[in-house]
Amino acid sequence: LLDKHPSGRHFLQIPGPSPVPDRILRAISLPTIDHRGPEFGALGLKVIAGLQQVFRTRHPVCIYPASGTGAWEAALVNVMSPGDKVLMFETGHFATLWNKMALRLGLDPEFLALPGYDEATGLPNSWRHGVQADQIEQRLREDSDHRIKAVCVVHNETSTGVTSDIAAVRRAIDAAGHPALLMVDTISGLASADYRHDEWGVDVTISGSQKGLMMPPGISFNALSPKAIEASKSARLPKAFWAWDEIIEMNRTGYWPYTPNTNLLYGLSEALDMLLGQGLPAVFARHQRWATGVRAAVNAWGLPIQCADPNVYSPVLTGVITPPGVDADALRRLIHDRFDLSLGAGLGKLKGRMFRIGHLGDCNDLTLMGALSGVEMGLKLAGVPLAGSGVAAAMAQFAGEPSVPDVLK
Ligand code: PLP
Repeated sequence: LLDKHPSGRHFLQIPGPSPVPDRILRAISLPTIDHRGPEFGALGLKVIAGLQQVFRTRHPVCIYPASGTGAWEAALVNVMSPGDKVLMFETGHFATLWNKMALRLGLDPEFLALPGYDEATGLPNSWRHGVQADQIEQRLREDSDHRIKAVCVVHNETSTGVTSDIAAVRRAIDAAGHPALLMVDTISGLASADYRHDEWGVDVTISGSQKGLMMPPGISFNALSPKAIEASKSARLPKAFWAWDEIIEMNRTGYWPYTPNTNLLYGLSEALDMLLGQGLPAVFARHQRWATGVRAAVNAWGLPIQCADPNVYSPVLTGVITPPGVDADALRRLIHDRFDLSLGAGLGKLKGRMFRIGHLGDCNDLTLMGALSGVEMGLKLAGVPLAGSGVAAAMAQFAGEPSVPDVLK
């Protein structure tokens, strides 16, 4: 087994889990302490206050010892009652999974989508564009008796590399004069892409640890609004472990009603120091810069980017569509075996049609150059005809741009 262990660092270039900085891994390895003891409350208060800064909210943020899927469920069961109608928007695989969850919980989800298929690739338009706020507004205007209780959208659709304009969704709800709650999944957007819970009028934001926060998987979050907290008091879906009320109450002194994930909270504390120490504008700027470099590579190869609308390119990941007849999963396997580089798979309707390059969290220009070299060599080994060198294009992009934009100096 040791003989087979590759030397050097594995390139974890999937859009989450993202590579965990050594500093965070070291913090996680500290001894576990008493979660009811005097030191713990200070840690709890610190991480909650730091998360409020990252979500850009003054209101409670609940932390769950669960993956992002748990936080999705928490969001729905806290504010919904059996049979409630929720309006969701199909942006890709994760929006589809959340829609399925709503069905399993006994809700009545309606799944809006951008109609039609893209002529060149045959892929659904909805999986190449962001949420269409005008479709949401129109549907809400038709709902004159206000049967729709929530609008649920994914901010950064990890399966496609498309970001959605959440402020526009808020404006659409307001323009329709509709009281529905706005619930947003930014599991892969938080701490990589600009996000503003309070300013954008979001009622519940859902996120997770293993993406922009540079942590291992295992904790996830619900950021709340006063309106969401009020709705949770009369909502009738069963809730116990996920219930916000007891968590909010005990969080006032930095404790939880159950045993929290102590060591991951050490890691979270370190991650927050790193992100807030650098400043969120700088964090967002470096993700945008990496995304621009990676797109320069994909364009130079002459391969289509999954996101068909340049206004909503994701700063977190780039989806690359492979030419007809090239199995993207076989290509990923080849790249993994030859170069010890993991790329994201095409999910759901995109299986085998595309792969995803993650450019989030603990990256830098050179790790991305290494990753792009692996992809380019893999494409050549697989016999994919390339228009030019993506590596050269990305180098030119990275070398030509200052790593810290002037406005942030
Ligand atoms: N939503 C989005 C946008 C995601 O990217 C993911 C995971 O990648 C999930 C939900 C599900 O989260 P988890 O796999 O942590 O349960």
